[in-house]
Amino acid sequence: MRKPIIVGNWKMNKNNAETKAFFEAVDGVAASENATYGIGCPFTDLRTALDGAKNLIVAAENCHFEDAGAFTGEVSVPMLQEMGVKYCIIGHSERRAMFGDTDETVNKKAKRLIDADITPILCIGETEAQYDAGETEKVIREQLTGSLANLCPKCVANIVIAYEPIWAIGTGKSATKEDAQNCCAIVRDQVRVMYGDEAADSVRVQYGGSVKPNNIVEYMACPDIDGALIGGASLKEDSFIEIIEKTK
Ligand code: 13P
Repeated sequence: MRKPIIVGNWKMNKNNAETKAFFEAVDGVAASENATYGIGCPFTDLRTALDGAKNLIVAAENCHFEDAGAFTGEVSVPMLQEMGVKYCIIGHSERRAMFGDTDETVNKKAKRLIDADITPILCIGETEAQYDAGETEKVIREQLTGSLANLCPKCVANIVIAYEPIWAIGTGKSATKEDAQNCCAIVRDQVRVMYGDEAADSVRVQYGGSVKPNNIVEYMACPDIDGALIGGASLKEDSFIEIIEKTK
């Protein structure tokens, strides 16, 4: 059985004081045997988040694939590992669009994280133009072929893949549950093609894109959706608590 995993992605939001207040309000509610809940936060908030987290898991939002060197402004996997970070979002569409992340660099990040025993939350998803052109399945398969290249089947079994159609991110225009289910099933099938049944049946696939308290339950009822990656609705204590209460 795959354990559901619901993670907030704060993006470039919240300072340390706000992080402390959020974890004080939300962490206790997140205790659950049935599901894992967590928050991805800016590097500057990680220490505060880890200190405030008994139940929530804490994710970084990016990493570099090299361990050290002349990479001004970057943060390496060993640095995250030393802090006790256990999850890291990689390849978010905002990073692909604005900061040069590619399937190739995302693949290097995934490998380095797996070596450090940090679970990658690997993001993929098509643009609105690709969706309109009927290219969604092709884009999903291509992104996974590149981002998941040359990993071991057991490693892939343990990662999290977030399918986030770019046109649904921050727009309020969420995918229908049928579209979301269909695309998450394609993700799982591509994992099956590349790494076999065990990896495909174990890998957890999240849907992301305008997930809110009022639609989380219908997504979670879909057979190939094992969780969600949530932007806007993870920023307010009340709405994230409502999401937790409805799914635990
Ligand atoms: P929203 O939930 O704000 O649409 O953001 C989704 C997202 O990008 C999560 O990574």
